[in-house]
Amino acid sequence: MNRRRFLAACAVAPFIGGLAPQALASGRPLSRVRPGQPGWPSPAQWDGLRQRVGGRLIEVHSPLQACADPVAKAACDDLFRELKNPYFIGDDVGLTQTTGWVDAWTYQPSVYAVAAETAADVAAAVDFARDNNLRLVVKGGGHSYLGRSNAPDSLLIWTRRMNAIALHDAFVPQGCTAAPQPAVSLGAGVIWGQAYDAVTTKGGRYVQGGGCLTVGVAGLVQAGGFGSFSKAFGTAAASLLEAEMVTADGQVRIANACTNADLFWGLKGGGGGSLGVVTRLTLRTHELPASLGAVHALIKANSEAAYRRLIGRFAAFYADSLFNPNWGEIVTLRPGNLMDIKMVFQGLDQAQAEAVWRAFFDWVAAAMPGDYAYRTQPHVVTVPSRRVWDAAFLKANIPGLVLSDDRPGAPPGNVFWAGNLAEAGHVIYGYESLWLPRALLDTSRQEAMSDALFAASRKRPVELHSQKGLAGAAEEAVAATRETATNPKVLDAFALAIIGGEGPPAYPGVAGHEPDVGAARRQAAEVTEAMGELRKLAPEGGAYFAESGFFEPRWQEAYWGTSYPRLREVKRKYDPDGLFFVHHGVGSEDWSADGFTRKSP
Ligand SMILES: Cc1cc2nc3c(=O)[nH]c(=O)nc-3n(C[C@H](O)[C@H](O)[C@H](O)COP(=O)(O)OP(=O)(O)OC[C@H]3O[C@@H](n4cnc5c(N)ncnc54)[C@H](O)[C@@H]3O)c2cc1C
Repeated sequence: MNRRRFLAACAVAPFIGGLAPQALASGRPLSRVRPGQPGWPSPAQWDGLRQRVGGRLIEVHSPLQACADPVAKAACDDLFRELKNPYFIGDDVGLTQTTGWVDAWTYQPSVYAVAAETAADVAAAVDFARDNNLRLVVKGGGHSYLGRSNAPDSLLIWTRRMNAIALHDAFVPQGCTAAPQPAVSLGAGVIWGQAYDAVTTKGGRYVQGGGCLTVGVAGLVQAGGFGSFSKAFGTAAASLLEAEMVTADGQVRIANACTNADLFWGLKGGGGGSLGVVTRLTLRTHELPASLGAVHALIKANSEAAYRRLIGRFAAFYADSLFNPNWGEIVTLRPGNLMDIKMVFQGLDQAQAEAVWRAFFDWVAAAMPGDYAYRTQPHVVTVPSRRVWDAAFLKANIPGLVLSDDRPGAPPGNVFWAGNLAEAGHVIYGYESLWLPRALLDTSRQEAMSDALFAASRKRPVELHSQKGLAGAAEEAVAATRETATNPKVLDAFALAIIGGEGPPAYPGVAGHEPDVGAARRQAAEVTEAMGELRKLAPEGGAYFAESGFFEPRWQEAYWGTSYPRLREVKRKYDPDGLFFVHHGVGSEDWSADGFTRKSP
């Protein structure tokens, strides 16, 4: 074909509904079908699926359709207000927590969804998608930043209703002879707030999950999963004892250390939506530390030079005093010479935590008022461990820490951290992450690291998530995390640096609620520049699958490093035809960016 004819063919290809999908020599189709194309299931076939899933097949409509009608402006404005409530979003089959990412992806709902209640429902949906050559997506908590639980023209498996929770005093994975241990089984639709309520508030134990209360358990565990105290307990994936899941052949399987051990390993950090659909997870629970607490302060430096000194002092203080299993969470270095400290601790009482920070805050105080001022005075609080996720306690005792689901009749336990409000319904402008190796904390490297952090903070806020790197963690936590598919570089990282930019809920084409594309592109460039300063120090640091750039180069290496070839093998074994596809997921390099067209072998 000459070039002109080729270009002409490309131009019309998306508009040809009538061509039957081509096939590889193996007989597998090259393209999945979209509505209106030959092969799209007939109404009778959809009815067949509806019957197989007990009526739980939903025709999905975007709530944003209300905005298409200019007369319905009030309804549309109400909707955008509701998009600041993560529970409203999570309960709607047609929404995701992130409404889009400028120049990357825009939320668009599936055509149909199976609101699964059982593993049999999930198996029926998997069979139907496979047999009819459909694009399949899986959504739990719906918190993927990268749009991995969202695809137009697809069938969605929605696990929200699979929310059973069972505590075990003595769990032994099926087929294993291991010593019984305390554990919790969580349906795939459970969100972490519900898990903490059952395990900690009601059960008096600890389960390693994530920070955000409305993130789904299945998405987080498969991503790897970090929470405030991961330096003590490891990643969430490291606590996985067993999963029940449906693979591409429609089989309901158990995966644990003794049965389907390769699949089990792949689920632990290999990234959700690539190997099958998890229907239930069983996680080890841990003894609850006696008390948990937090240290907050916001320090303003009066000059760039003073700010640079502050960063250097903090780096040394972190290396000497916080680089251990007691500490986690975030220090943010902001433009405007602000250091925002929001750290948490376990295994220390109030006096011990205060003693740890004394030297640092004394150093700051000694240079006041000339160099520094407090925007928020340093304060240390401890909370009885059992109350840390207790919605009633938090609302009564720490005003402003949590916000509530404000819909009439919402369960009183539906709360979320005020700190996560900005992310509800947001549009991402830019986002990148990088694991920072522990070597940067060596005395000989602290100056270079502080220079880089200072330079990056001139462009965008730089968040240092100390709990998302396992260097300095408890030995047992490191050993358990080593047995997962997460990039082994996480074991050698003292923190994950995250630099991002975002705007309020918005949608292209909705007057008054359009994304600010100009600001987005500007911020995206700033994010890349700022991260570039850190990449100079850690060019091969790697990035966290769930919290990373949409355009992450060499993502296989960045997310999984030396684990990737083994993950590819697991994928080939359990999903040889690539039914499961997510953006930059295992095996996704075999497909077009939208997951519809297989690249020729
Ligand atoms: C506000 C916010 C805070 C966050 N905080 C943290 C944090 O503290 N620590 C951390 O580690 N991460 C955090 N994340 C990232 C989060 O862990 C991931 O985005 C996670 O994948 C979300 O899971 P989900 O079920 O809510 O999302 P979804 O969008 O529903 O799913 C995410 C991915 O998992 C797949 N998936 C979901 N359910 C299943 C299933 N049952 N079987 C197979 N695949 C499935 C989806 O297909 C998708 O690819 C945060 C994200 C947000 C938006």
